[in-house]
Amino acid sequence: MSNEKVFSKDSYNFQLKSGVKPPLEFALDNYLTFACRHKFCREVCPVYQATGNEGYIPYGFHTSLLALYKGIAKFEELGEMFVNCLYCGACQIRCPNTLFMGDFYKVTLTTIDLVRKIRGDLAKSGVVYLGLEDAKKEVENHLSTVDNKDVMLKWTSDLNLQIGGKKDIVLYVSRFMATQDTKTARLCAKLLQKAGVDFAVMPTTYAGISEPFDIGREDLFVQLAKQDIDMLKEMEAKIVIITDPHDYFYFKRDYPKIFGDLPFDIVFITEFLWRLIEDGKLKPVNEIKKKVAFHDPCTLNKLTGHWESPRKIISNIPGIEFINENHIDQWYYCCGNGVSITLRKAKPKLAQEIGLKRLTRVNDLGVSTLVLACPHCWDHFTEIETKTGIRIELINVIELLAKSVGV
Ligand code: SF4
Ligand code: SF4
Repeated sequence: MSNEKVFSKDSYNFQLKSGVKPPLEFALDNYLTFACRHKFCREVCPVYQATGNEGYIPYGFHTSLLALYKGIAKFEELGEMFVNCLYCGACQIRCPNTLFMGDFYKVTLTTIDLVRKIRGDLAKSGVVYLGLEDAKKEVENHLSTVDNKDVMLKWTSDLNLQIGGKKDIVLYVSRFMATQDTKTARLCAKLLQKAGVDFAVMPTTYAGISEPFDIGREDLFVQLAKQDIDMLKEMEAKIVIITDPHDYFYFKRDYPKIFGDLPFDIVFITEFLWRLIEDGKLKPVNEIKKKVAFHDPCTLNKLTGHWESPRKIISNIPGIEFINENHIDQWYYCCGNGVSITLRKAKPKLAQEIGLKRLTRVNDLGVSTLVLACPHCWDHFTEIETKTGIRIELINVIELLAKSVGV
């Protein structure tokens, strides 16, 4: 078990159990400052929009903890409520307690911390809440894959990349993209090569999932992150380019909280590519005649405040007609996958409804193509299209740029 502290408040280090009263400070968390009654978190929550259930928003989560403290709710029942969260972060940027991810009053933790803790404590106590077994399978699959370097590096074949060794710039490709969205991983590398960037990739990456929290193994989350950070230090990386927005969230938000300041800069791939375009090293010259909208990944827009660089890239591709939806309007949407896959697996119809709402909105805009920046959005939207018959072309912004640049 790692000694690193995952939750920054002492009351979060108390393990909730059946029949044991939670600490008052924990039960009152948000109530202490804002009385937690105005429900700013409600309308913006994609789960609330689909269910209309106030038990599934932070207000409901906090109320259930108060009920637990007062002895009128049972610990075992918490899973029925706390499974209903995508970790999308919309509530966090609406709630005055956690405004703009800043823990504004330094007394509360975010919804994501809270949901991670409750799911984890349920799992540690042997409570099998809906979705727990799926989260465990996801972790098992991840662990067995990341140890297989042949599988993890298959996407690099014939690209002539430096694998491991010392390098200032490292392209970070974690398991999901390395195995499920190899097309985007390869195009990221090809675009960097085209621009003459001298970079390396890692021999494997161990981190890249948040499900360890959902199964009560935050120590595993820390351990996998540490393995990657140690490897990046060994490679003497100064800039780490992240290709999956979920990883960007972990590197920007979770890892510094756990390990302190990291000894390298973290840059999301679209930001890095945009700089190359600005410097004239990448030239999007080929016309692409499409009318497109852009879907903000929650992990970029809502959880790390990053929405500009994909829009700049799309806007600079000749021939594109870009219906540029305001990123704040997109706080209300999520593809339905979630940052961990637990809700999608536990309640697939609910997850589908949430994603379908976004695709329907795009359809209503009259565009033919939805540009994405996240392999998990692509995965879930593709599943929804297959199941429901709705048809909108899905394309990653990396592929769009690659077509225009000619790689
Ligand atoms: S916005 Fe924040 S303080 Fe208000 S009800 Fe929601 S969680 Fe509670
Ligand atoms: S993180 Fe997203 S899904 Fe979870 S409660 Fe907040 S708004 Fe709802």
